[in-house]
Amino acid sequence: MATGGELVEFYGDDTAANAPDYAAPWKILIVDDDQDVHRSTELALRASRILERPLAFLHAATSHEAVALLREHPDVAVILLDVVMEREDAGLAMVRVVREVLGLAEVRIILRTGQPGYAPEIETICHYDINDYKTKSELTRTKLLTAMIAAVRSFDQLSRLQHSRRGLKQIVNACNDFISLQGITEFSEGVLTQLAALMGIAPAGLVCASANRAQPGNGLVIAAAGRCAGFLNRPLSEIDDPQLVASLRRSFDTGARQIGPRHLTLHFSGRQGRSFAVYLESAAPLRHVDEQLLEVFCSNIAICCENVELVAELREHAFTDRLLRLPNRLALIHRIDTLRSAGQQAGKAVALLDVDQFSEANDMFGHAYGDALLQAISARLVDGLGAHCVVARVAGDVFGVLGDEAQVRPEVLRQLFAQPFAPAGTDHMVSASIGLVRLTGYGGSGADLLKDASIAIKRAKAAGQGQVVYFTDTIAHETRHRTRLLADLRHAFQFERLYMAFQPQVELASGRIVGVEALMRWPTSEESLVSPEVFIPVAEQSGLIVNLGEWGLRAALQMLQQVQAQGLPPLRMAVNVSPVQFRHPAFLEVLDRALRDHATPAQALELEITESVAMTGSSAIERALHEVKARAVAVAIDDFGTGYSSLSYLDRLPVDRIKIDKAFIRPLGAPQPDTRIVEMVIALSHKLGLKVIAEGVETQAQAELLRGLGCDEAQGYLWGKPMTGEALLRLLAER
Ligand code: C2E
Ligand code: MG
Ligand code: MG
Repeated sequence: MATGGELVEFYGDDTAANAPDYAAPWKILIVDDDQDVHRSTELALRASRILERPLAFLHAATSHEAVALLREHPDVAVILLDVVMEREDAGLAMVRVVREVLGLAEVRIILRTGQPGYAPEIETICHYDINDYKTKSELTRTKLLTAMIAAVRSFDQLSRLQHSRRGLKQIVNACNDFISLQGITEFSEGVLTQLAALMGIAPAGLVCASANRAQPGNGLVIAAAGRCAGFLNRPLSEIDDPQLVASLRRSFDTGARQIGPRHLTLHFSGRQGRSFAVYLESAAPLRHVDEQLLEVFCSNIAICCENVELVAELREHAFTDRLLRLPNRLALIHRIDTLRSAGQQAGKAVALLDVDQFSEANDMFGHAYGDALLQAISARLVDGLGAHCVVARVAGDVFGVLGDEAQVRPEVLRQLFAQPFAPAGTDHMVSASIGLVRLTGYGGSGADLLKDASIAIKRAKAAGQGQVVYFTDTIAHETRHRTRLLADLRHAFQFERLYMAFQPQVELASGRIVGVEALMRWPTSEESLVSPEVFIPVAEQSGLIVNLGEWGLRAALQMLQQVQAQGLPPLRMAVNVSPVQFRHPAFLEVLDRALRDHATPAQALELEITESVAMTGSSAIERALHEVKARAVAVAIDDFGTGYSSLSYLDRLPVDRIKIDKAFIRPLGAPQPDTRIVEMVIALSHKLGLKVIAEGVETQAQAELLRGLGCDEAQGYLWGKPMTGEALLRLLAER
């Protein structure tokens, strides 16, 4: 191993501002108003070498001149200072300036005086760190030299100490900097910079990583600067610089430091047997190398390196999807944010691809099949787009793609799904619902962007499978509007601004009010309401409908209680139940609790479920309907005729009533009305033993017609608009 002893050449150039110059002469400043003293002192000391270095002299006749010189030469080693010059205490005053104003703590000071008796207080000597105090007559040549040697030695020690302190500080700072570095490459660049700073030279060199200590020849250059920049990412074996390669190899082999006249090779180890060699070179010969500092530096970077590698591993875990080995949602967000902060978002787009019917495939063929399908899709996306795009797995069956708009566009993405996938050897046609967001001019964060892409996907899904929707300003506007609406609705609900209105339902044959439908009302001012057609869907999307619906049910049952309490004839109460509510696992519990709490007979309650829910063919819905029926609660199919009616289900479902949608009733008011559909629905319902009620009846003519067709009941403005509970009680009492 080479040692610092090889360092023989020293130059007086000034590249290394931090490092004391260990070759140059010691600078001695003589301050005296007597020219002879200058001459004799220089003469006495001129030929001497102290610690193998010569002496150089600076001369000042006044303390003013001396201070000016010190400003120019802060590296003066010793000041020989006359106490009495322009004033009696000029010398002492100058010492104060040197220490306190110029901040020169290391320079040694020897006070001299011509007249004995001018000795400064011992306190002053201590306070200003004065080395020696001598009368001029005392100072023979030998005594002067002895004093000088002692002063220079102590200056040398002090400045070495100071230098290592600075070095240590630098190392500590370097470690602080390393903490924020992202990975081993960035870290290695940091090592080059910091080591160069420690050595006081420009960073030129490289860092070579070896995955395996046994084969250091495999080392790879992971950071490079200066003349070595061209070696970046090259294996050691390919580098055409025998001296450099030999030095690095030796470093890997022995783990030892090598210090040459113009280069330095350090070794440190990372995690899991990895090790690193740093090669640093200097245009000028390297000056003093403090071996202990290098030792500290090496062990510090080894620790920092381990940390950086650990953090990198953690990062890798946090940012990678384990199953597909793709960047995950966080990673994609990070990439988008990085792109945005670098101002490179123009012309880029993000797509989210949601695999249609994935959970069905998973349920049907098992999870292993599902995983294999995802792997096949991931491979297709990476092969098809990978080189130019980031492909990520954002959620279970949702992929994200970030790339140029030319790549990330509907035609290209759809084409990737044109051929079947063969996850288990058999072909499986798969489609994806795709939401796209253009990054050009996009103002939100990466997380916002993925949210918006998901909104676009929802729209795509609503349009069927395999559809593509761009997130547009219109969608953004609507989304904002909905968000605001939802917040207002929550607020209104919380502050009990909502109420239930009731609309009479009459038996057509007798004109008797046999029931009411409870309809939710959200008043925003004295005369304006937000239509339930607007707020119910928002409540459904957010899940708020579950609480809202429970409250509505209880309010309706409370109304029934009031009707009973007033001794009015029994009434049927129809309550609308949203599909979201109906599918909620706690629905039956909520129903039972409401019935119990309001002590109303279950027969008086009817739940209105839209056709689209009732007719899905889902066995869970069918079971729930049976449970409702088992409690003697009636069920009506609302808005009948508007959905994809599959009449065969009607027979199987435990339903009591069909509500013909007002869309079919409206045309009955025409001069020559086409009654065929209404006729057919009434006939079919009766065949199945179901009652029929017509919605939206506004005219006597419509009512007559319906009665003629055998419709059992009707509801509409003809008999009354939805009204408050008090108005209903009044109406019922009048009858
Ligand atoms: P729906 O259940 O079909 O309710 C009937 C709608 O027709 C009500 O509208 C009612 O005011 C209106 N209507 C009644 N008679 C006439 C008429 O003669 N002419 C016309 N043009 N319209 C008439 P509303 O109150 O605006 O409610 C709209 C929809 O909102 C309801 O349709 C229902 O689906 C939903 N909804 C209302 N309240 C609730 C509720 O408490 N829970 C749930 N889940 N949905 C509700
Ligand atoms: Mg209804
Ligand atoms: Mg309806």
